[in-house]
Amino acid sequence: MDSQVARSITIVGGGTAGWMCAAALVHFLGENTRITLVESDAIGTIGVGEASIPQIRMFNQALGIDETDFIRATGATFKLGIEFAGWLRAGHSYLHAFGDVGRDIGLGAFRHFWSRAHRLGLARPLGDYSVNDLAARAGKMHDGAPLTNRNVPQMPHAFHFDAGRYAAYLRRYAESRGVIRQEGTIVAVERDGGSGDISGVTLADQRRIDGDLFIDCSGLKGLLIEECLGTGFDDWSHLLPANSAVAVPCASAAPLTPYTRATAHAVGWQWRIPLQHRTGNGRVYCNAFISDDEATAGLLAHLDGAPLADPRVIRFTTGRRRQAWSHNVIAVGLASGFLEPLESTSIHLIQTMIARIMTFGPMLRPAPAVRAAFNRQFADEMERIRDFIVLHYRANEREEPFWQACRSLPLPDSLVEKIDLFRSAGHLFRDQADLFSEVGWMQVLIGQGIVPATSHALAEAVPAEDLGNWLETLHTLYSREVAAYPAHADFIARHCAAPAPQ
Ligand code: FAD
Repeated sequence: MDSQVARSITIVGGGTAGWMCAAALVHFLGENTRITLVESDAIGTIGVGEASIPQIRMFNQALGIDETDFIRATGATFKLGIEFAGWLRAGHSYLHAFGDVGRDIGLGAFRHFWSRAHRLGLARPLGDYSVNDLAARAGKMHDGAPLTNRNVPQMPHAFHFDAGRYAAYLRRYAESRGVIRQEGTIVAVERDGGSGDISGVTLADQRRIDGDLFIDCSGLKGLLIEECLGTGFDDWSHLLPANSAVAVPCASAAPLTPYTRATAHAVGWQWRIPLQHRTGNGRVYCNAFISDDEATAGLLAHLDGAPLADPRVIRFTTGRRRQAWSHNVIAVGLASGFLEPLESTSIHLIQTMIARIMTFGPMLRPAPAVRAAFNRQFADEMERIRDFIVLHYRANEREEPFWQACRSLPLPDSLVEKIDLFRSAGHLFRDQADLFSEVGWMQVLIGQGIVPATSHALAEAVPAEDLGNWLETLHTLYSREVAAYPAHADFIARHCAAPAPQ
């Protein structure tokens, strides 16, 4: 009886996390479960979070959402990767592009061949061997037709999309399938005297909403998981000191680039996320090094077009809840923790938390081992992403005090090992909990100036001339293919333009 699946689920919060949960739970649990979502118009949502990674496509597919319909409804553009401008040093740039880099010729990973050629002075920048990187920089997008050259890899992609429109889209989806929406501000949370579980929440107008299981999607404060249950927070500010962001949308500018740009500045960095109807921008910084006013002035000085709203400052603490599942509450989205949006991972973490809820079952009072495994999986996943983000900050050659301070931050042991293994001989081993592939790690390690000292024996054995010729052929092949693709903006106009505003 105790471990039964919850029959009544209450989701607290109607941001991206709340509506993604509502849509997925109603889709997968169907009529057997009553799902209620509470959101407060007065509080609103965080209003940022518009760059994704390719896995979002699988989430939408699992819900039966048509991709073209999604792109039109959310004003989305395609994302082939992230450009990191100035992260190693001013003027330097590289992409963490989705998809493969180079070619596996059955003699070991491409990175070994590239790093040997690099040491011999025969290699181009790594991105010159990636279809996604070449297409991103050329502002191109594959048009969906079979690739003209079968020797060229496919182009994995994600999206930049309007988070408000996505939440509204998922709301229509969820409500049409039976999710009940209650608008109002929760002013009290009640707990069962015996179990300590949450039994209900009360809104400002005294409406009371109960539930067997509560999904806390209330944003950074964690209304249920922290303010009520006090599960505790692992603060990672000592590893990632940025604690603020200031965000503003601006008018679009041509060309419509199919990638996110993250540009390093004297204190922190600025994101640029192009949508069909506007561009999202924000600066991430540490307020011990720069004031909000200075960060805002810096942001406004680096926009593509006129600002479309007043800049908004957001304060955050990097880290994660010690327990994402405690009592009968599961925290999802910002309520479960936060990592700055450098690699666009937060929406993905919502998705994996939903997958975890479905895998473990939205159970009432599970065995302690079940809840412990759930929480451990979440912790491992967050920690691997944290390491990846720390790498971007740590390996820099910039002169400013903020960046110098980043170089002397402590490193997690897991990251020390990863860097040492790669630097010595190009070793990369993917941990099971690691979201990012070996290719992703390679691009950022090399992008941040960490190049293996040696390659494995097979790569060392290839005659230098053959190696150089092979790399050049690969680059020519990929460049030719990309040159035939349509421009990103033309592709959208032809296939998936959002309707013009009424
Ligand atoms: P919110 O959007 O804050 O929603 C909280 C909900 O809870 C709201 O509906 C609110 O009304 C409700 N609520 C709160 N209190 C109450 C109450 N008392 N009563 C009733 N309702 C209540 N992620 C990415 O994947 N890519 C990005 O590019 C990206 N960029 C980001 C940039 C910044 C600066 C920040 C801070 C985050 C970014 N994120 C990004 C993360 C992303 O914004 C979030 O993961 C995502 O929006 C989910 O937020 P949420 O739904 O958890 O919280």
